[in-house]
Amino acid sequence: MKIVDHIKNAKGRTLFSFELLPPPKGQGIQSIFNTMDELMEFKPPFIDVTYHREDYLYKEHSNGLLERVSYRKRPGTVAICAAIMNKYKVDAVPHLICGGFTKEETENALIDLNFLGIDNVLVLRGDARKGDPDFIPTPEGHAYATDLLQQVLDMNQGKYLHEDVVSSEHTNFCIGVAGYPEKHFEAPNFNTDFKWLKKKVEMGAEFIVTQMFFNVDKYKEFVIKCREHDIHVPIIPGLKPLTTKKQLITLPKIFHLDIPEDLSDAVDQCKTNADVRKVGEEWLVQQCKELIDFGVPVLHFYTMSNPGPTKKIVARLA
Ligand code: FAD
Repeated sequence: MKIVDHIKNAKGRTLFSFELLPPPKGQGIQSIFNTMDELMEFKPPFIDVTYHREDYLYKEHSNGLLERVSYRKRPGTVAICAAIMNKYKVDAVPHLICGGFTKEETENALIDLNFLGIDNVLVLRGDARKGDPDFIPTPEGHAYATDLLQQVLDMNQGKYLHEDVVSSEHTNFCIGVAGYPEKHFEAPNFNTDFKWLKKKVEMGAEFIVTQMFFNVDKYKEFVIKCREHDIHVPIIPGLKPLTTKKQLITLPKIFHLDIPEDLSDAVDQCKTNADVRKVGEEWLVQQCKELIDFGVPVLHFYTMSNPGPTKKIVARLA
């Protein structure tokens, strides 16, 4: 079922959904099933599965020379989505990224997803490869999420690459895109970022999932601004429990977000990891309560393949 229909059918009840990462290459799918087993009691209407482009690895040879090889650390997104749908009868939402894929490879992936009965995709640009200063589009690939979005929209109309005739065998994907309550880090200002977000929605994106945030006011301001910019699709807040002191540094660095002073002070004062997890849990429970009061359609949790902390939080809300 399409995400927008899940939201409609909920009739104002807040839904819980989760994002999972494919396991690193060489590990089995059991870790995904273990995570799903933990989360199924919350009846998630859908589960997102991230997509990871290939990265560089430097291999040292016996003569001391370094060879740069390209490798994908977390493959398997499409198959994991199929396995989740098959085993748990829950909709799986694969993330699709521009980086690392030609248009042809993207088309093939979309054909596979369509054949598997997957109804939703989250369309993203992806980040720069580790070691690259900026995002470099793959030759014959897409430069922005808008371009990838257009390809999915074309397929929804039966327009395939290199085919002159429009096919009656069209896909029917419900397409989501990313939104940034604290601005995408490359955008020169909020208004430019909104301009592109609006473009994605005008083109046909039907829902937005946000980057994680720790300050609910920033989400609320973002939603209000979106509505002012005539963006009226559901805006699903992305949430993550803070679980380690190190994340005070890593989360702002990786995700370009602010950690509120009250939260960072409370974490700083913690003596043990368990204390940090408790502070993170209380903070996110409070965030979720405020978001439910604000009327969000779904609370979407970035589990980072560690469902324990998320489970504790959702259990207090469900
Ligand atoms: P875009 O919409 O292409 O925007 C990128 C930048 O360009 C922005 O600054 C925007 O303002 C600007 N812009 C947008 N369109 C245009 C245009 N047509 N012309 C000029 N400028 C434009 N990454 C992964 O690799 N795998 C994942 O599975 C993944 N999942 C994610 C899930 C969510 C909910 C979120 C919020 C992010 C996720 N990311 C993932 C990270 C994401 O790929 C990065 O944040 C990336 O830097 C931007 O992606 P985007 O789709 O927002 O890009």
